[in-house]
Amino acid sequence: MSPSPPLLTDPCDTLIIGGSMAGLSAAIHAPGGQRVILLEKNAVCGRKILVTGGGQCNCSHRGTAEELARHYGGKERFVLPALYAFGPDTMVRSLAAAGVAVETRSDGKIFPRSKQSRRVRDALVALARGRGVRMVTSAPVLSCRLGDDGGFLVSTCDLVYRSKRLILAVGGKAFPQSGSTGDGFLWARDFGHTLVEPTPALTAVEADPFPYASCAGISLFSPVIEHKRGTEKIGTYSGEVLWTHRGLSGPAILDASRNILPGDRLLLSLTEEGTAEKTEEKLLALCRKSPGRRLSALVATLGVPQRLAACMFQTHVLRDPAASDLTRAERRRLIELLVRFPFTVRRLAGWHKAMTTAGGVDLREVNRKTMQSRLIPGLFFAGELLDVDGDCGGYNLQWAWSSGALAAESAAP
Ligand SMILES: Cc1cc2nc3c(=O)[nH]c(=O)nc-3n(C[C@H](O)[C@H](O)[C@H](O)COP(=O)(O)OP(=O)(O)OC[C@H]3O[C@@H](n4cnc5c(N)ncnc54)[C@H](O)[C@@H]3O)c2cc1C
Repeated sequence: MSPSPPLLTDPCDTLIIGGSMAGLSAAIHAPGGQRVILLEKNAVCGRKILVTGGGQCNCSHRGTAEELARHYGGKERFVLPALYAFGPDTMVRSLAAAGVAVETRSDGKIFPRSKQSRRVRDALVALARGRGVRMVTSAPVLSCRLGDDGGFLVSTCDLVYRSKRLILAVGGKAFPQSGSTGDGFLWARDFGHTLVEPTPALTAVEADPFPYASCAGISLFSPVIEHKRGTEKIGTYSGEVLWTHRGLSGPAILDASRNILPGDRLLLSLTEEGTAEKTEEKLLALCRKSPGRRLSALVATLGVPQRLAACMFQTHVLRDPAASDLTRAERRRLIELLVRFPFTVRRLAGWHKAMTTAGGVDLREVNRKTMQSRLIPGLFFAGELLDVDGDCGGYNLQWAWSSGALAAESAAP
């Protein structure tokens, strides 16, 4: 006996696939008076929202649209219309309407006051429900295609949904354990869209072997991080760096990771002075002041955590003489290590640890003022699926919110 064909639903006006930040924002902003359905693969919506910001959800960042737009790796022009129309203030207002107050930290990051990502997720789901959107969970979409009438046919295991307009908000490939497994990339390609090769972003970098594993947990501010590929200089960054068991992480490294390839070298300044001249000046002053002190103790005075200094002395076989016995050659070598601490990237930490996806649906094929496909009328994209990735600090959830809202507003009849 042949299996019965899947049932065809009545057509709806807008179908949203993906029930995380971008999809929920689309559901919240879908203009009333239409039939809207949201399909989510997981049994609950917003699993990824739960893990954001270490469970506290850094949902946005203070600033004007122009200020925020500078944090999307050169995609400023594309992201601006969505940020103008649905900036941080719109998110903050909506959360407040659902009973979630937020606070802005001194560094500009916005968090729920409760520090509980669950509160944000629950508020978004409640707001979407309140708009009359039908939310269908445990509904993994298997395929989407164009129907004969110019609408869309979206298949799950047991039903084929019909819709006039389709919003793809299924995320990228980062952190697949939350449900984002790159399905949208396959569908976008089937619809004729070009993909910018997706790669893990906002991810740690690893070395193998990593002689500094014992320094895991150490965090310091590096004023200058030079990024090199062979002899070519790729960029210069600054910010907080965290030592892990396998390599380096922390905001400065995570933000830079969208540009990093295996084999690249990172040269970190470990002292707050940043340059060789200033660091040498300070070291000489310390040597003069305390000629009897061990060199490793003076390095700690320069701001290098003791555990890291000890590991550096051991790994690079440095002598630890009294300051008065330090030779000029030894001093020069030490300064070089302090201002250009070398780290060779063996690999990026990979999809399971990445916070976002670099690459995705090519922006040249999407109208930045509507999020509509330039190839298929009625098809819209939102969130991480697009070739947009933000820095650490709330920029990715804000992008998902803004682009989801713009897509929904533009998808109205
Ligand atoms: C550990 C971690 C911490 C983070 N912290 C922050 C932070 O503090 N601040 C910040 O701004 N950003 C943070 N991010 C990034 C941010 O979470 C994402 O960029 C954002 O969630 C992207 O939203 P999205 O809706 O586009 O995609 P996703 O959140 O990836 O959601 C896509 C949704 O689509 C569903 N889906 C996928 N395929 C299908 C299918 N076939 N059928 C039906 N449904 C499907 C998925 O189950 C998922 O619910 C973090 C990410 C991680 C992994």
